[in-house]
Amino acid sequence: MPPTTLRVRLKTVAESVVRQGHPWVFDESIREQNRDGQTGEMAVIYDRNDQFLAIGLYDSNSPIRIRILHLGKPVKITKEWWAERLKAAASRRDGLFDEKTNGYRIIHGENDGWPGLVLDRYADVLVLKLYTAAWLSRLEEITALLRAKSPERTVVLRLSRNIIDAARIGGFDDAQILTGSPISNAVIFSENGIRLEADVLRGQKTGFFLDQRENRKIVENLALGRRVLNAFSFSGGFSLYAARGGARTVTDLDISSHALENAERNFSLNRSDRKIAQAEHHQIKADAFDWLAGNTKEQFDLIILDPPSLAKKEQDRTSALAGYRRLAVSAISHLHEGGILVAASCSAHVNDEEFFTTIVAAAAESGRNYQRIKSTDHPADHPSTFPESRYLKCIYLEF
Ligand code: SAH
Repeated sequence: MPPTTLRVRLKTVAESVVRQGHPWVFDESIREQNRDGQTGEMAVIYDRNDQFLAIGLYDSNSPIRIRILHLGKPVKITKEWWAERLKAAASRRDGLFDEKTNGYRIIHGENDGWPGLVLDRYADVLVLKLYTAAWLSRLEEITALLRAKSPERTVVLRLSRNIIDAARIGGFDDAQILTGSPISNAVIFSENGIRLEADVLRGQKTGFFLDQRENRKIVENLALGRRVLNAFSFSGGFSLYAARGGARTVTDLDISSHALENAERNFSLNRSDRKIAQAEHHQIKADAFDWLAGNTKEQFDLIILDPPSLAKKEQDRTSALAGYRRLAVSAISHLHEGGILVAASCSAHVNDEEFFTTIVAAAAESGRNYQRIKSTDHPADHPSTFPESRYLKCIYLEF
């Protein structure tokens, strides 16, 4: 590390945005810095009066040049400071889950004061996912911290694609075990008593979509006696809850045979649950857009639409909204009288308001009577503390 502290000053607007608690400083917001920064080092931000404003992690390769760790009074970032930060994230989850749930998020990035870092628990396995190379030089320290806190747990490292090369230079790789026993397969964990696989080594995100837990629970409570279609079903999470809720039939619809096989295994894992064993379980391997818009006349009483993000960037917003609308319009045409549509979006570039308006417009377009029964956003283990981190929303309409 270079001997002098990296000191940075920001443009006026960026300075007030940071002062208000926003965790990102973009490259173009930096007015001056005393030298070139290195990815992973601490950058100290001084305000226009030359007073300490904040300290953050510098990333020379990302447009998000600094991710704020601390705002306010000057602070020394020590081992104890990191330990406190971990403890704070863990205690934010205190009391959220009972023994029936051992899969949840412990650290949700910026929103827990760990910018660009996610930590998920699946039973005895922790998955540490990094979205910025700025953490790589601190990985050993973080691993030691996790080991000290939970010595019995294995920690798997997952890397977003754009930092894999940088990680390899430092001797780290995606799916590497940082501490604990080797893992060769998916990890089995429990969510509200339902047993599920998380493909922690190869799966998307950290291996499972923990963020939909509460919507799955709501679906369970709506499912009694219904024929349920779970579109974009992935490993069958919503399907299992619907089955346990007494659904008459449950149909997974996904384009990926890998996902459908995973759902099949998850159903097998829960055979001892009478309700789940009783539900008729079907699978359709198809493009959900095509299948729903196609000629099939099959009708359902509850349809879940939980597609992958349709807007990966701001420019995709309009086409994403059109996609959500198209999906909803065709799903509604497969709904019986009294049927329920559950439509979710995980695109941060589409806000709650415009998503809900779009789905409601699709309902109006159908010419049928409908009622908005509920909408939801982030669960407590995925807190959202700044606008860009708000991605999840879900609306429930009854026809
Ligand atoms: N609802 C799931 C998460 C969905 S993830 C849960 O609660 O866990 C998105 C899923 O959509 C993935 O399984 C992916 O294979 C599937 N998918 C992506 N594009 C698709 C398409 N065009 N048609 C059907 N499935 C698709």
